[in-house]
Amino acid sequence: MIKINFAVLTFVYLLLSILPQKLQAQKIDTGQLLNHVKILAADSLEGRRTCAPGAAKARNYILNHFKSVGLIPFFENYQQKFVVDERGVKCDSAVNLIGSIEGTATKNKSIVISAHYDHEGIQNGKIFNGADDNASGVAAMLEIGRYFAKNQPKHDLIFCAFDAEELGLLGSKSFVKILPDIKNSILLDINIDMIGVSLRNELYIAGAYHSPFLKRQVNPIVNSQDQLKVLWGHDTPELGSQDWTLASDHAAFHRAKIPFLYFGVEDHAHHNQSTDTFENLNHRFFVQAAQFILTTLIHLDAQLASNKNYQTK
Ligand SMILES: [Zn+2]
Repeated sequence: MIKINFAVLTFVYLLLSILPQKLQAQKIDTGQLLNHVKILAADSLEGRRTCAPGAAKARNYILNHFKSVGLIPFFENYQQKFVVDERGVKCDSAVNLIGSIEGTATKNKSIVISAHYDHEGIQNGKIFNGADDNASGVAAMLEIGRYFAKNQPKHDLIFCAFDAEELGLLGSKSFVKILPDIKNSILLDINIDMIGVSLRNELYIAGAYHSPFLKRQVNPIVNSQDQLKVLWGHDTPELGSQDWTLASDHAAFHRAKIPFLYFGVEDHAHHNQSTDTFENLNHRFFVQAAQFILTTLIHLDAQLASNKNYQTK
């Protein structure tokens, strides 16, 4: 009797101690996530304008994270420099930061996870902090990187912190341009831009109109979601300015015929205002959105790797 009881107790103890850890391992670290935004959207970074000192501070922060979680440099010291001469900004020191994680099945194509770190800087004497646009997306990308550095994916993952998005998607265009044979090397782009503010608790996924196979793959995750309202849309031509197909860095991949999924929110009162601050984020929504994107990626990575003959249409 004593022996059986001991075995049962040991089993229950193991279940209680191991299971929660396994579940927790799939979750975004909430404290780290919020801390990233707080730092990237601080006044001291002065709105992270491309080539301004605040952008360099943001880069240092992102670089330290890439190194500390163990991402592999895609370029020397992770950096791709490029020239900018657009919308009043002229400089030769715009910089994308690119790190990667090797997958277990490297013959598969790579998945890109992208988020731009630049914002509008100081306008009319006011700092445009860009907490939602797009410290929120960068923070999610950083924590997704931390997760996959500990839990090896099937596909190679490429993490892109793009510069100069606000000046015309220049960072993503520069990156796509230098990739040889991009169509055969990149499976898809997951682009995250503004996931921190939604009074209606709504997160949009755009891009599936162009690549319906992605909707088929992701729908089970969307349908099992009970915290957020996840909606497909904003990617059909008849929507005019509300068609977001070319609205953020995923456009460069789309033009190169790479499927994309864009995660973001609809326009809101703080967008492109000095009130886009850490305090004005909907923290609960933001954490849930980041967690949802990570869950979607874990699912897509496994599904697309297990089905060698997946249709990319
Ligand atoms: Zn943006």
